[in-house]
Amino acid sequence: MQNTLKVNEIFYSLQGEGPYTGIAAVFLRLAGCSMNCPFCDTRYAFAQGQDMTYEEIIKELEAYPCRNVIITGGEPTEQNFAPLARRLKQRGWTVHMESNGAQDADVSDIDFLVVSPKKHVSQNMLCKAHAIKIVVGQDTDLEELKTYFPYANTGAAVCLQPQSNKQENIDLCVKLIKQNPFLRLSLQMHKLANIK
Ligand code: SF4
Repeated sequence: MQNTLKVNEIFYSLQGEGPYTGIAAVFLRLAGCSMNCPFCDTRYAFAQGQDMTYEEIIKELEAYPCRNVIITGGEPTEQNFAPLARRLKQRGWTVHMESNGAQDADVSDIDFLVVSPKKHVSQNMLCKAHAIKIVVGQDTDLEELKTYFPYANTGAAVCLQPQSNKQENIDLCVKLIKQNPFLRLSLQMHKLANIK
């Protein structure tokens, strides 16, 4: 198996979404995603990317004064990320990953897995997720949404994220959380704060 990944970008910022909102982290955005969601805000990552070896990636990550990495995309599970995650763990990194969960993957070296289900999702990945982040818009199927609620009983943080931070979607999320208080709100803080 290749020891390279197609990397769209590496940058240092703050986690903008989910339970770890606000922590400093180095983002490793891998290129490519076959899901093609209409509301995707990382389309630029689909095609653009350069092949980097695990060593080249680690060297670039370690140029920053932080040892939290968020592996994201695109869709990281469409590439062979697991050996990189293992090497980063061995070097003392805390490894987060954001995935659509469509295909089961080896996440044994991921400290915090966020699954954001889209058109289809693997039950195995939902069971392994530390957080399930559901994008909620006006056309969200509320009956389907409810199928994710039981994962809160297994310790996962079940977060509702208003699509595009739109007020009507925020209002819907707030209503749903008040009705189901085991849920929580995930705003896209980085967009509100105007940071990358
Ligand atoms: S799964 Fe995520 S990265 Fe892929 S198209 Fe959908 S929103 Fe974009």
